[in-house]
Amino acid sequence: DVPAAGKVSTRFDLEKETELRFEVEAGEAAEQVELELLTGMAEVFGSELNRNKKYTFGAGSKIAVFTWQGCSVNLYGKPEVAYVSKDTPMLLYLNTHAALEQMRKQAERDNERGPRVMVVGPTDVGKSTVCRLLLSYAVRVGRRPTLVELDVGQSGVSVPGTVSALCIERPADVEEGFSVQAPLVYHFGSTTPGTNIKLYNKLTSCLAEVFSQRCEVNRKASVGGCIINTCGWVKGSGYQALVHCASAFQVDVVLVLDHERLYNELKRDLPHFVRVVLLPKSGGVVERSKECRRDARDEKIREYFYGFRGVSFYPFSFEVRFSDVRIYKIGAPSIPDSCLPLGMSQDDTQLKLVPVTPGRDLTYHVLSVSSAEDGEEGARKGIVESPVCGFIVVTYVDTQTQVMKVLSPAPRPLPRHTLLIMDIRFMDMK
Ligand code: ATP
Repeated sequence: DVPAAGKVSTRFDLEKETELRFEVEAGEAAEQVELELLTGMAEVFGSELNRNKKYTFGAGSKIAVFTWQGCSVNLYGKPEVAYVSKDTPMLLYLNTHAALEQMRKQAERDNERGPRVMVVGPTDVGKSTVCRLLLSYAVRVGRRPTLVELDVGQSGVSVPGTVSALCIERPADVEEGFSVQAPLVYHFGSTTPGTNIKLYNKLTSCLAEVFSQRCEVNRKASVGGCIINTCGWVKGSGYQALVHCASAFQVDVVLVLDHERLYNELKRDLPHFVRVVLLPKSGGVVERSKECRRDARDEKIREYFYGFRGVSFYPFSFEVRFSDVRIYKIGAPSIPDSCLPLGMSQDDTQLKLVPVTPGRDLTYHVLSVSSAEDGEEGARKGIVESPVCGFIVVTYVDTQTQVMKVLSPAPRPLPRHTLLIMDIRFMDMK
């Protein structure tokens, strides 16, 4: 708990309704920054800070410490930037939470379902942060909301290339975010919905269906509602995917962050009973470069295998015979309509399972282990709509002996033998 010797400490006295924003330098050599609340009360993205506890933030972290009442904090170490801002949209975000809470209360009274909220906007407007804030506020008042993560590029729940849902039972940990226990995860396979929009929409519908089923049997989940985090792609098919999601989940509220045109379009295209609300983005949200996003994705996969902060995992490496597994890619390359077999549409090709013959080019690819029952043809049908039970990475392929080496979180044997290939690669540098 004691800050490393020699770290500079800087004290900040914050007035009420202001926030301290700081960024930790990116890169492996970056020095961590520690935060300590000395007096008053403060929160980081909706989670309250304990007084005199030191919170550590690693390379690349971008943090805001907000206070409703006023407080003083210490930073230990050298952040890349650190400044206090009086200009924050937090009051509007709190009001949004209050309005959602009213809807939950009403749902409780009238035996209805709670609010289903979709958060949309271009990249880097703080969508994930607003989701985290609203979810943390909701659990803090005793609700059990669900986070639906549709951002296949920067998933807060699982590895990139997936969509998922997670029941939120406690506020996000200040340093680590939400505790991810038993999420429901589906394989998408790439980091932009555009690579297979049909599959993306299909998986959105799958999540919506499972969530609705859960709401039918679990009153708390139903009243808690859900907060849906979406991708920053808001034009063309990306926009259509948002409209599809609104209808699949039957959302009641859409929060549009900092995009007036998107706000107007959604107001025009969604049914009149859907409340579409335009909210400003926080001036603190930091734009992330392509490299930064790629690094974040890599880090997410590394965490899956090796753990995070205090918790270390020790993954296994073992050989898998080609003959013991079936590897598929979802979606065949699109071909002109005129060349499609009779009675088949482009939709069918995008959801088709294409068997992959293992070769050298499989090396470093991330593979999802499908929870679909092993079995022949009959079972293949359900694979696209089956959740995944884990991920492995191919580290070596030997075509001579027909064997591949994989990195796996669990020892052999693989729990299932149907594997789905992602476009995403992970090079294990450990
Ligand atoms: P994406 O384009 O990946 O969908 P997004 O819109 O979800 O991004 P966030 O991930 O919420 O954006 O925010 C981007 C970064 O800005 C994050 O690192 C987050 O910690 C940081 N951030 C958000 N709000 C603030 C703030 N008020 N002060 C400082 N940093 C912030």
